[in-house]
Amino acid sequence: MWLLYKTFLFSISIGVLTFSPARAVTSIDINIVKDGTHIKTIELILIKKMGYLKGIDIAEIFNADIDYKTSTKEVFLRWPVPKEERRADDYVSADIKFKIGSDIVVMEGIKRKMMKTPKIIKGKVYLPLEAVITRAFKSIAGAQIQWSFKDRTLWISYEGNIADSRYYTYNDYTRFVIELTRKLEYTTKVSGDLIEVMIKKAKLSVPTEEIKVNDGVINKVEVNVSGRGVEFTLKTGKDAGNSDIKNYPSPPRIVMDIKNKSASEKSREASRKMDKLPPHPAGPAKRDKVDIDNINLVVVDPGHGGKDPGAIGPRGTKEKDVVLAIAKKTATYIKKNLKARVLLTRTDDYFVPLAGRIKMANDKEADIFISIHANASFNPESEGFEIYFLSDSASDEEAQSVANMENSVVAMEQGTKNLSNVNSILWSLTMNQFLNESSELCSFINKEVIGATGLVERGVKQAGFYVMKGARMPAVLVETAFISNKREERLLNDKNFQDKIARAISTSLKGYRDWIKKR
Ligand SMILES: [Zn+2]
Repeated sequence: MWLLYKTFLFSISIGVLTFSPARAVTSIDINIVKDGTHIKTIELILIKKMGYLKGIDIAEIFNADIDYKTSTKEVFLRWPVPKEERRADDYVSADIKFKIGSDIVVMEGIKRKMMKTPKIIKGKVYLPLEAVITRAFKSIAGAQIQWSFKDRTLWISYEGNIADSRYYTYNDYTRFVIELTRKLEYTTKVSGDLIEVMIKKAKLSVPTEEIKVNDGVINKVEVNVSGRGVEFTLKTGKDAGNSDIKNYPSPPRIVMDIKNKSASEKSREASRKMDKLPPHPAGPAKRDKVDIDNINLVVVDPGHGGKDPGAIGPRGTKEKDVVLAIAKKTATYIKKNLKARVLLTRTDDYFVPLAGRIKMANDKEADIFISIHANASFNPESEGFEIYFLSDSASDEEAQSVANMENSVVAMEQGTKNLSNVNSILWSLTMNQFLNESSELCSFINKEVIGATGLVERGVKQAGFYVMKGARMPAVLVETAFISNKREERLLNDKNFQDKIARAISTSLKGYRDWIKKR
């Protein structure tokens, strides 16, 4: 009977691979397109909707060497020839290190957390697709990389110098960004409802013909490639007001802001209703910071406060008290070590609505937003340090429950819609153009805090935290330690420990500042 079952399994394994009855694995074919040419089709394996590529396939298509050390279960990707000397079919020397079963990958010497782990399937190394489409991987491979599940295609471009184009819809304006791999000459023409931007000698990394926006300010963007370069034509909508086109050096990009002429009063009204906060004396929130190359103002946000104690420890320690202490120390260190200004969203034990915290940071045009919390779990043994940046889908179930815990405070805010409405608001969370900077900032803080405190490293994670919604600067939420764990509750009350965390955060900001200056 068992033999028969095995033959049956083998016979259907072409399309659907089953490794254990519990876990269905499907494999699909995807296209690899390099600089506009289809070069081959490779297998993508899907496990719980997460994609995996064969290590040897990744190495081959990116001209790298792959090495698997069975003794340590480590997988190395190496590029033998320095990046700047590489032509499309050459190699570089940077390393990427994975480990089978571990969600930590080391790229450019920085530990990063992935959502899924590398696996050995049928004796072969499989690596999470998510690692390949990160900015760090692109920079190591020296290529523009784009993935579309819908098109079943991975685009790789060494020649393209238009890396990406995307838009962000805000209450009072829409921003269209064209990201370049290097500075390029361009001309603009505004006539009637058309805004034309011709980028000379440009090459698309990913074939794009049209981008539908339909937010009332921009209807769509047409993309035309010609011998002269690439032209973006923005067809504006009925709410389109004045436009403002600028370019920025790092990363090189052209940014177009088109005012929403019908939104001003409406948006002010909406935000007033939303935040139950008096209108800010300076008027509507100023435009996003586009180019952050220094850290002048940091907003430090001690979570909870007033009627909201936050989580409470087995010995009665209130989260609101320990995070305020850590926040104040962090502010002192940042002022001292970075010579930057610091604003605390609360300086004492009082209640501040969640939306009001990021509004403060936006209105003051802060360069960084750091929300400080203490973690809690029903499991009294849960321990360690973790740090978050924004996304609409949580890294894992645990991350989702931490976000739910922190977001639940909204229910305390008078007149605020109930949580389900808040959840529907969350959809706009990812409309944040600083996700990459936020994830980098997380890596810097994570490294310093773990180094300084020796806490268990739970890693850099993502989830939908309402307090970071609409952040117009890199924003992170720090879960310092578990107040629900007796030992860590004691630590959170300990001045030395608080000091270590505070100092580590300010030190990591220095590293981050150097990174943004260098990139
Ligand atoms: Zn909290």
